[in-house]
Amino acid sequence: MKILIGFLLAVLATPTFAQDVKRSIEPVAGDVYLMRNNFHNSLLVATDEGIIRVDPINAEAGIWLNSNLDQIGGDRISHLIYSHSHGDHASGGGAHDGATVIAHKDAPETIDGVTPDLRVGDMHTLEIGGKTIELANLGAGHDNHMLVTIVRPENVAFIVDVAAPKRLPFRDFARFDIGGWFKQLETAQTLDFEIFAPGHGAVGTKADLDDAHTYMVELQAAVLDGLKAGKSVEQLKAEVVMEDYKHWGQYAAWREENIEGMARYLKASGQAD
Ligand SMILES: [Zn+2]
Repeated sequence: MKILIGFLLAVLATPTFAQDVKRSIEPVAGDVYLMRNNFHNSLLVATDEGIIRVDPINAEAGIWLNSNLDQIGGDRISHLIYSHSHGDHASGGGAHDGATVIAHKDAPETIDGVTPDLRVGDMHTLEIGGKTIELANLGAGHDNHMLVTIVRPENVAFIVDVAAPKRLPFRDFARFDIGGWFKQLETAQTLDFEIFAPGHGAVGTKADLDDAHTYMVELQAAVLDGLKAGKSVEQLKAEVVMEDYKHWGQYAAWREENIEGMARYLKASGQAD
């Protein structure tokens, strides 16, 4: 039995087998692409100076991408931008040795061993190989900063974790300061773009960002009403069905956890009293 448990632990500790990870590069618009690595996306922009990548995800994703850049007419990552510093998006940047690394000024000094070459403020514009890259910080909420990358002339915005088109937000909001998150969503809504390329899930439009904000507003109102009426979180999980969002991704999986997270926030912030 001991041997069996030892073996199982060894298997669990082994990095995911390559054949289990689904990776692809798909077009978004013009010279803008998404690299998919299971449930995480990177933004790729093909320019005359090389390929710009936003978010390395992990080392294996970077190694795969380096040998698949020819799919989009490139041969090297010239610039690596970090949206934020959470490990599931920001690991393994060292795979793109030689790239100019860009992060927000509030990002950690090193991100999984990579030291940014350029730290930007809350609004920063770069001209790279014929593309205009606008970096806009959404402020604190999910992480202490969140850089949106907008690519022109394609007018694509890469927005990570704060929202995703037609998809419920992640589980019980454990990594969010929810008050700050609302502000991040509202700041994102002020940005000028047409296509919404997310860090998770399918590509959408700016209207999908507005819908993601509306979902949060409606969830907050429904949970707050219920708490003020003396209902338990268990009752709210049964009653707050968010009917208009039944067709969204992760509705069945995450609706109840969304309610739990919102109730926790409303109680902790004293709004439910
Ligand atoms: Zn994150």
